[in-house]
Amino acid sequence: MPTPIGHALGGLAAGVLIAGRAGPSASVGIRSQSLLWVWALCGVLPDADFLIGDHRGLTHTLGAMCAVGCGTAVIARGQPGLWFAAAASYGTHLLLDWLGGDTAVPLGIMALWPFTDTFYLSPYSLFPAICRQYWSAGCQVDLMQAVVWELLLLGPIAAFALRLRTRHQRHA
Ligand SMILES: [Zn+2]
Repeated sequence: MPTPIGHALGGLAAGVLIAGRAGPSASVGIRSQSLLWVWALCGVLPDADFLIGDHRGLTHTLGAMCAVGCGTAVIARGQPGLWFAAAASYGTHLLLDWLGGDTAVPLGIMALWPFTDTFYLSPYSLFPAICRQYWSAGCQVDLMQAVVWELLLLGPIAAFALRLRTRHQRHA
């Protein structure tokens, strides 16, 4: 499963692309630059479950994604599109984790909860399983390799989204 850097890039790309499509009114009242941090944070947010010791549980589900979208709709009333951008940014985390290697049983994430509590994991790993023995040199090398891979894979997508946003703002 990706590192927080990969998740932040995924969330940023989705948020920027979707909020940009919602038009200039989507960022009225909120500094556009601040939204970049919001999208990146939404991409990382599901892993906050580390803090409560229940990793890959309810925060890694469709239900949580919908809750984030609904919460954003309430907070950002009058700014159409932001709720969808927030939910999509959050949803990238689920997608990227599903595409990542996993070594902890049950493998994968409970992506479709509340409809089912089955854990899902892609048969093809786009991202390596993340080592959690941070104190070991081998683990640190693995983490650095994982970050480089994420930057190579997701960095261009995030850069493309930011470039489109800049063009959109110039023409707005
Ligand atoms: Zn996760």
